[in-house]
Amino acid sequence: MNQLNNKGIIVIVSGPSASGKGTVVSRVLEKADDARVDVQLSISMTTREIGKNEVDGESYYFVSREEFEKNIAENNLAEYNSYAGEYYGTPKDKLEGWLNEGFNVILEIDVNGTKQVLEQYPEAVTVYILPPSFQELEFRLRSRGRDSEEKIQYRLAKGKEEIPEARWYDYILVNEIIEESADNLLSIIKAEQNSRSRIEYKIDEVLATYGKD
Ligand code: 5GP
Repeated sequence: MNQLNNKGIIVIVSGPSASGKGTVVSRVLEKADDARVDVQLSISMTTREIGKNEVDGESYYFVSREEFEKNIAENNLAEYNSYAGEYYGTPKDKLEGWLNEGFNVILEIDVNGTKQVLEQYPEAVTVYILPPSFQELEFRLRSRGRDSEEKIQYRLAKGKEEIPEARWYDYILVNEIIEESADNLLSIIKAEQNSRSRIEYKIDEVLATYGKD
């Protein structure tokens, strides 16, 4: 009954490419200590090309197709998906380890991956990051200068297809001001830690102290 006690929470953050979810999550990680929240970021594995401002092992583990497929075959991934012809997936052992140590783990994954994670961990909390508009999304995609025109158009079309899926997420953040979105995400994690199903075990712990010196 009390299987949720002391275990970390899986916090899934999704949103279209360039919605700013990565930046929001980075701010959350920076602010977590001061906010007294234990969080870890799950680093995904991908076969896509490394971007000019990216570092292997920071935003992703960049691997070959062969290596990725080996990880699928060995059941090392909690979920995976292919996007724009490239694989993306969540390493399972790190995720499980952190949860057992009581860390809340943020997964920055797409809608398809979210569905897979919810099948295995139905208590995961889902947060969708919406850009304020498509104009802003296009501006952000162009400013990061990573994609060809064709890829930009693909990512915008993919965003239009994906955004309606935000309707079944637990929370939606419209990402206008990074700092505000980060604070909101931290508040969500804190509130979820105090949701009844997660903290109910404390009732018995407190009751057990009754009448003791
Ligand atoms: P990008 O190439 O812009 O970094 O990411 C493309 C898409 O892949 C984004 O929607 C991102 O959330 C998603 N993504 C990143 N990592 C993972 C992962 O481990 N699993 C899944 N299913 N999607 C991921």
